[in-house]
Amino acid sequence: MTEAAYDTDNIFAKILRGEIPSHRVYEDEAVIAFMDVMPQGSGHTLVVPKAPSRNLLDANPSTFDPLFTVVQKVALAVKKAFGADGVTILQFNEPASGQTVYHLHVHVIPRFDGIPLKPHTGGMEKPEVLVENAEKIRAALGS
Ligand code: AMP
Repeated sequence: MTEAAYDTDNIFAKILRGEIPSHRVYEDEAVIAFMDVMPQGSGHTLVVPKAPSRNLLDANPSTFDPLFTVVQKVALAVKKAFGADGVTILQFNEPASGQTVYHLHVHVIPRFDGIPLKPHTGGMEKPEVLVENAEKIRAALGS
């Protein structure tokens, strides 16, 4: 099946353009990271390249070096910020895989021994919790 084209009005493109708000924890010339509003666990962060692609399948390979450099930085920061035992990295491609937002992104989720992930399409987190968690991650990234 032929994949759909990149939609410049997807929600992460709007966040990248500053048209809708996000709880940002990191930004450089190629990548941003912000809190997932429906976290699968405390500290669930999304790392998003600025270069447009639907997902990993149509991305320019030059996207991956800066993207995964930031994925590692954020993974280390969330582990430290939340005292996590581990970190799950997830990335979905096309609806059959569970993708719901069609701009390439990587999920970074702190994990704790014996605590399962919440469902992928769970409830909205309270904004004040996202603000507090973003502050913790920014602090860990800065240290
Ligand atoms: P997926 O495309 O399945 O990899 O997941 C998209 C993720 O984006 C989900 O975990 C959503 O909770 C999250 N999400 C959707 N809209 C927003 C938003 N406006 N800000 C932050 N996260 C979002």
